[in-house]
Amino acid sequence: MKTNLLGLDRKGLEKFFLELGEKSFRAQQVLQWIHFNGVKDVALMTNLSKSLRDKLIDIAEIHAPEVAYENTSPDNTHKWVLRLQDGNCIETVFIPEKTRGTLCVSSQVGCTLNCDFCSTGKQGFNRNLTIAEIIGQVWVAVRSLSNKNGEHDHKITNVVMMGMGEPLLNFDNVVSAMDIMLDDFGYGLSKRRVTLSTAGVVPAMYKLREVSDVALAVSLHAPNDDLRNVLVPLNKKYPLKDLMAVCKEFFNDEKRRYVTMEYVMLAGVNDSPDHAKQLISLLKNVRAKVNLIPFNPFPHTIYQRSDDVTIDRFREILMNAGINAITRKTRGDRIDAACGQLVGQVKDRTKRNERYKEKISRIFLAQDC
Ligand code: SAH
Repeated sequence: MKTNLLGLDRKGLEKFFLELGEKSFRAQQVLQWIHFNGVKDVALMTNLSKSLRDKLIDIAEIHAPEVAYENTSPDNTHKWVLRLQDGNCIETVFIPEKTRGTLCVSSQVGCTLNCDFCSTGKQGFNRNLTIAEIIGQVWVAVRSLSNKNGEHDHKITNVVMMGMGEPLLNFDNVVSAMDIMLDDFGYGLSKRRVTLSTAGVVPAMYKLREVSDVALAVSLHAPNDDLRNVLVPLNKKYPLKDLMAVCKEFFNDEKRRYVTMEYVMLAGVNDSPDHAKQLISLLKNVRAKVNLIPFNPFPHTIYQRSDDVTIDRFREILMNAGINAITRKTRGDRIDAACGQLVGQVKDRTKRNERYKEKISRIFLAQDC
């Protein structure tokens, strides 16, 4: 089988070339051709010798996921559905703003965590994405956006690992893909502009701190264990005490960096002034800022979005206590590209999707009677 060079970070490429009896600087050249220049055809890599190019054509390939479908929402959010070689599909979303362009990247086909308010979880899970499939989303998006008009508005300045899946449960592949995003010869993004979001896989968070410099977001969503156990079942394994301990430590030697706490606003569930007060005491001594995310509905969910007044009141209580809190603008919901709406096409191996559909149809049948 040919080696997919798209899936090798700088270290991987160095090893690959050393094994071929080549100098390690070839890694930098090839990284630059593939990611910086977007070249897929080895024959075009003109600073490699002809004999090396011929060798590479025999043993290697550059294979990116294929665009199965794409769509732009009225607010210019752009979604790609990408088909993988095994027929699974994943989703990637680009969110243009005045001063930046953010690409939301998936890390798994589906998700194992089954957070109650997230439609990705309801799809079940198939497998981890490979490095090539993760960085391939950036590769495809950069090429696709540069073919569109008004190129300036379409530059990717930020990447968030907030698409389908739990990135820390696909640790090695996600870290390698992020290394390519940060590499000057890859995408050259700054460490503050690549964010990994986790539901709180505590041991992997300690490990991440050792090996990567990227920004961290935590899907908190509840200020106490009882509620969080329901919304984010992973909390039963890694409760808030342990999660807050790692968050406290995460940027403790970098004075100007904060952990972003994501908090989805669910009407009547986690959005009262008392919840805000609990959140304030939870975040005491944690270098954190809060992103309030208005809930994005999906078919058959039992949750509803908090209204704007409630969200504003919640935010004000946090701000008055000295916690920096912003409300995330809802983007892309018209094309199902907003947070928690990414579903792809998962060949579910957990049967969760089937069970969920069954449960839902039972509820609806009961209501009909
Ligand atoms: N598993 C990781 C990465 C997914 S990020 C994590 O949990 O952080 C996706 C973000 O969108 C998370 O903060 C998630 O909690 C949030 N989200 C999920 N479903 C949502 C929904 N229906 N409406 C708004 N935000 C949602």
